[in-house]
Amino acid sequence: MGINTDLLHAHQLHARLTGSYKPQAMAHVSPIYQTSTYVLDDFDSAVYLNQHVDEGFVYTRFGSPNCDELEKKIAHLEHAEAALSLASGLGAISTAVLSIVQAGDHVVFGDVIYGCSYTLFAHVLSRLGVTYTRVDTTNVDEVEKAIKPNTSLVYVETPANPTLKISDIKAISDVVHSHKGITMIVDSTFASPYLQNPLDLGADLVVHSATKYLCGHGTVTAGVIAGSKERIDRCRMPYLQCFGAVLDPFAAWQLMQGMKTLGVRMERHCSNAMKVAQFLENHPKIDRVYYPGLESHPTHAIAKKQMHNGFGGMMSADIKGGIDAVRTVMNNVKVFSLATSLGNVDSLIQHSPTMSHFDMTPEERHAASIFDGQVRLSIGIEDVDDLINDLDQALSLI
Ligand SMILES: *Cc1c(COP(=O)(O)O)cnc(C)c1O
Repeated sequence: MGINTDLLHAHQLHARLTGSYKPQAMAHVSPIYQTSTYVLDDFDSAVYLNQHVDEGFVYTRFGSPNCDELEKKIAHLEHAEAALSLASGLGAISTAVLSIVQAGDHVVFGDVIYGCSYTLFAHVLSRLGVTYTRVDTTNVDEVEKAIKPNTSLVYVETPANPTLKISDIKAISDVVHSHKGITMIVDSTFASPYLQNPLDLGADLVVHSATKYLCGHGTVTAGVIAGSKERIDRCRMPYLQCFGAVLDPFAAWQLMQGMKTLGVRMERHCSNAMKVAQFLENHPKIDRVYYPGLESHPTHAIAKKQMHNGFGGMMSADIKGGIDAVRTVMNNVKVFSLATSLGNVDSLIQHSPTMSHFDMTPEERHAASIFDGQVRLSIGIEDVDDLINDLDQALSLI
């Protein structure tokens, strides 16, 4: 063969010229299949697999070994028949939601949810003829009252961003499923599968921004959906296939590495967060702390009932002195990084009203207890005294 042919084919693992693919060693950590397409055995299997893409690997938008491995692990962790991986949490949320709603439908969702999830309902789906009602999903009666004959989806985020409100998944699912044809989705990002399993409590689909705790190290954006095989198949085809929010094999691989330590990370996130919450609750410059592990939290009892192993690493706090006090604290913390996102091994601080929730009107924000003096903390796995001392010195400068 000429050199240009050799450059492409000589000793290429898949090449017919050098014999068919045989792994030479069993890698301890799964290899990364950084390829857009797959070499098929022969004409007949090429025809068959292109028509049955879930039975083998054909093209990376249809599936890859790295995503497949991740999806099987997520399904296992969420006690689901199947799971799907996507390029971001919003990729997962928009794909799951669009697999359910159509023009003329009505959606019920929480008054406190992740900013872009709200934007999806309020500014994207509303243009496509989908109406909505926002309710306090911690109040099951309000959810029931909001249901209309054309409601097709009840969307619940718990714990909710950023005020950490806890909604009773089991009670809402009982109400939802007493009506015909309504699907319930739970965004369980703040809990991760280590602290909460919404499908066990009656949800139909669970979604995660895997960018957060599942990855844990802030190196990828990713999302997952888990549920019955029928529902996940529909999310995959046609919705994921047509929207194309496919997870890259390298990102899936990184996520798999991060997930190995989810348990030990979550235990430290939870114990550190509890200590920081108790410290802030007793601090003279803090008005109110929002952490579901505190007895003072209005929905602590539901958290205790439906979460296991702890209450997570997320909290918000109202600083006395409003936005000026927030500026002082955020400009002077040294261990915490000023960054949106959450669930990383290192601690982050953000200002929800102007960062993650700027898309809401001030009236909507205040009605949802997202006040101007509120910071959101993602408590990392550092030594907890260093976190407390860092917040203490920054608060003392107000
Ligand atoms: C971050 C987040 C999302 C969006 O996830 P991306 O990976 O950023 O697309 C959705 N829901 C919650 C609760 C989040 O924290």
